[in-house]
Amino acid sequence: MIRPQFSDTLARVAGDWTDARSADAAIENLVFLLDSADPDEQDALVTLAARIRDHHCGQRMVVRGLVEFSSCCVNTCRYCGLNRNNPKAERFRLTPDDILESARLVHEAGIRTIVLQSGEESRDARELADVINKIKSTYDMAITLSVGERSHADYALWKEAGADRYLLRIESVDADVYRSLHVGRELETRLACLETLRELGYQVGSGVMVGVPGQTTHHLARDIRFLASREFDMIGVGPFIPHPDTPFRDEKAGGVGLTLRMLALLRIVTRNAWLPATTALGSMDRDYRIDALKAGANVLMPNFSPVEVKKKYEIYPGKRCITERTGACALCTEGIARAGGLEIDWSRADSLKMAVRL
Ligand code: SAH
Repeated sequence: MIRPQFSDTLARVAGDWTDARSADAAIENLVFLLDSADPDEQDALVTLAARIRDHHCGQRMVVRGLVEFSSCCVNTCRYCGLNRNNPKAERFRLTPDDILESARLVHEAGIRTIVLQSGEESRDARELADVINKIKSTYDMAITLSVGERSHADYALWKEAGADRYLLRIESVDADVYRSLHVGRELETRLACLETLRELGYQVGSGVMVGVPGQTTHHLARDIRFLASREFDMIGVGPFIPHPDTPFRDEKAGGVGLTLRMLALLRIVTRNAWLPATTALGSMDRDYRIDALKAGANVLMPNFSPVEVKKKYEIYPGKRCITERTGACALCTEGIARAGGLEIDWSRADSLKMAVRL
């Protein structure tokens, strides 16, 4: 049963999510929609989100090849299995040649965009710049980096070397929640990095985890407002999954329903951002990535890390597809798109917001 208040609020948010009445009213609308776990209401929400996705982005799913190239990390994020205080984490570092080989496999699979992700290292930025340079001069591919907080000079060097995009999740725009997730680190630094990346001309992605300890739907509503108002090109949201070797080992995982509602609302308010069906959503009691596509997502990121390192990049346990041979994930990509009712778009799929910004 859909309550009239639900239909009214959904229509209001879809029409103008900022709500002419006040900022508080806009947040309250989002909280109300996030809090509704009624199946009929959730259906109405995700159906509208998928319609908005089809209208603004086309009925397609883009594919990005993910390569996790290092599990070494100097940070102590309380949720992440790679944090430096976890002695059980298996550390690896791919060589430049290994990364190039992964790029070759991504290209061979017909994918025109590669995402290079790692823990946060203090390594010399020139090494990654060389890799970027080599990939760009060998393949016609967009390069996305996801290697955390670095200096202006490092971001500039990588942009100069040919990197096109950067993913840096804000994790939470609430300073207290942020601080409780990240020992000794401040939200301002993360915000400043996102500013720098935008200034340097990167297509910028951000996002949050859903269900981290201490986070309420009010926090999530404020995250939505931030993510939408900054016009991010890509926004990743996935459920928090507790890792047994982290301080959050006994915490509850984020809810699937809440994550899907968060995703649907982000689609409704951002309209044309790229929203991945995240691996975390594929790594719960079952694979919810198709549900994510049905709730407005339109990106899949199959894993192209060499099979011997896949399980070592354990940011959370139970990660999907870690035993498949390298590149095999590309095979189920077709099936996932079809089940989500979408065509695959194999292009490099640049930001849909760029045309407006330029
Ligand atoms: N070092 C890079 C990449 C981090 S991994 C950076 O800081 O940007 C990419 C994302 O995985 C993180 O931003 C975080 O949102 C998510 N993540 C990490 N640990 C997680 C966990 N236990 N459960 C769910 N998502 C997690």
